[in-house]
Amino acid sequence: MRNESYPRFIKEGIELENETIIPNLELTGDETIRLKAEIDHLQRRVADLERKISLQPQTGLPTHFRLELELDEMIETSRAQGDRKGFSALIVQLGENYRVVRKTVKSGVSEWILYQTACRITGLLRPVDKVFHTHENEFVLIIPGLKGQALTSFLRKLIERLNEAHIFSSFNVNIQTAIGIAYWPEHGGDRSSILHNADIAVGAATEARKPFILFTGELLRAVVEKAELQNSIIQAIEKPVMERLGEQFVLYFQPKLVVSAVEGRILRVERIEAEALIRWNHPQKGLIMPSTFIPLAEETGLIIPLGKWLIYQCMQKLSAWEAAGKSGIGISINLSAQQFRSSDSAQVLKSAIASSGIDPDRITIEITETSLFEDTTTADVILERFETLGVRISVDDFGTGFSSLSHLHRFPLDEIKIDRLFIENLDQNRKDRIIVESLVSIAKGLGLSLVAEGVEKTEALEILWELGCRTFQGYLIAKPLTPEAFIEFRDRIIADDNRFRCPE
Ligand code: C2E
Ligand code: MG
Ligand code: MG
Repeated sequence: MRNESYPRFIKEGIELENETIIPNLELTGDETIRLKAEIDHLQRRVADLERKISLQPQTGLPTHFRLELELDEMIETSRAQGDRKGFSALIVQLGENYRVVRKTVKSGVSEWILYQTACRITGLLRPVDKVFHTHENEFVLIIPGLKGQALTSFLRKLIERLNEAHIFSSFNVNIQTAIGIAYWPEHGGDRSSILHNADIAVGAATEARKPFILFTGELLRAVVEKAELQNSIIQAIEKPVMERLGEQFVLYFQPKLVVSAVEGRILRVERIEAEALIRWNHPQKGLIMPSTFIPLAEETGLIIPLGKWLIYQCMQKLSAWEAAGKSGIGISINLSAQQFRSSDSAQVLKSAIASSGIDPDRITIEITETSLFEDTTTADVILERFETLGVRISVDDFGTGFSSLSHLHRFPLDEIKIDRLFIENLDQNRKDRIIVESLVSIAKGLGLSLVAEGVEKTEALEILWELGCRTFQGYLIAKPLTPEAFIEFRDRIIADDNRFRCPE
C-alpha cells in the first residue's frame, strides 16, 4: 500500500461558482459569455480529471484516492454512532505469477485477469461492503461487521473464487493471491494505521505462502526486528568495505574562490571553498581519473558505497579542519545521476552531517544539468529531500544540457556552474561571451550564485569578472590538490591578507 494523499482540488472541491471567480467588474455581454464558456470548460475538465483519478480504467472500481476518502468518512461516522462491531479491512494482492503473465503474455490477457478478479470479488460482496482497486495488482475490501468465524467463512469463499483458473481460448492461467486482514478499531484507530497493519499482514501471508493472515502485534514486532537485523547486516558487511576503500581511493580538493575585487592579477578573496574530486590509486595502473572509473562504478552499482565513503570522508575532513582552527571552509560534493536518484544519498548525507556536527549550508551537492533534467518530476521530489537537509544545491556543467527556464525557477537551487566549454575560449570567441553573459543574467535574475569552472587564463577571468561572475575555479587558481596542499593554499591566501596572486 502506498500512502498517496488525495489531490487538494478533489478533497476540497473547486468553487467555480460565477460569483466567486468573477469579481465585481463592469463586464460587457460578450465578456460574460466568454468567461461563462471558460468556466464551463474548466468544470468539465475538473469533472473529467476527478473521474480519471477516482476510477481504475481496467476494472471500473474506485481507486486508492476514493479509499482514503471513504475510509476516513466511515471511521468518523462509526465513531459518531458508537458502532461497536467495526469492520475488517482486507488487502488482496495478486501474486508474483500475475507480474510474470503481465510481462510475458500478450497484452489484453493481464487486463482480462484484473477485470475477472474484480468481478469475482464484487460477486461475493453484500451491498454494505466496499471494494477498491488500489494498485495494479492490489484490491482493498472493507467489510463492515464481519470478523472472526464469520469472516473466515467469507474468506474461504473468496479464496476459492480467486483460485479458479482464468480461461482463455488456448490456455488457462491460475493466479495465486495473498490476503492480509486488520480489524477496525482493534488493530488501529485511523485509516493509515489500519491499512498499514493490513499491509504487514499481507506481506506475512505472501512470505509464508498462506492464503490469508490476520494482523497481530507479534507480526508487527517481527517486521521491526527484521528491519533492525537488515540494518545490522548491512553495517557488518559494509563497515570493513568502507575501511578498505581508503586504501585505493583518494580525495583531492580543488579551490573555488569567492572574489570581492580584481586588481590586475590580484584577487581579493572573500571566501575559500573547495570541490571534492575523487581519484583511484590503482595498485598496478597508477592514478585513474574519475571520468574513467565513475561510469564503471555506476554500471556495477558500486557508486552507492563509493559515494557514501566519499560523503563521510568529506565530513571527517571538515570536522578535522574545524578542530585545527581552519574554520568556515565550504565543500562541494559531486553526485552522479544514479547517486542522485538513489533514495540512499539524502539519508547518507543526513547521517554524515548529523554525526559530524557540520553546518549543512557548508555542503553543496553538485548535480549535472543532464541528470537533473532527465526526469523533472522525480528530480522535484529528490531536490526537496536535499533542501530539507539544508544543504546547498548546484547545477554542474551548466549550459551543456537542456534546462528549461521554468524548472530552473521552480527547483530549489542555490548555484549554477558554467561549463568549462564556454570558458576555454572566452577571450577569443564572441558567441561564448554572449552565452556567458546571458547565463550571468539568468543566475542574477533567479538569485543564484554563479561559478565559472575551468578558468585557465587571466584574460578569461577578467572577462568573467566584468560580466558579473564572482566565483572562480580552474587551473589558473589551482589544480585539484591533496588535502594537505589545499590547506597550505588556503593558509597562504589568509597570510597574504586574503589576496590571491594569479600566476604570470
Ligand atoms: P566536474 O564536477 O565538472 O569537475 C571538474 C573537472 O574539471 C575536474 O576533473 C577538474 O579536475 C577539472 N578541471 C578543473 N579546473 C580545470 C581547468 O582549469 N582546466 C581543465 N582542463 N580542467 C579543469 P576530474 O577531477 O577529472 O573530474 C571529472 C568529473 O568526474 C567531474 O567533473 C565530476 O563530474 C566527476 N567526479 C569527480 N569526482 C567525483 C566524485 O567524487 N563523485 C562523482 N559522482 N563524480 C565525480
Ligand atoms: Mg563538479
Ligand atoms: Mg563541471
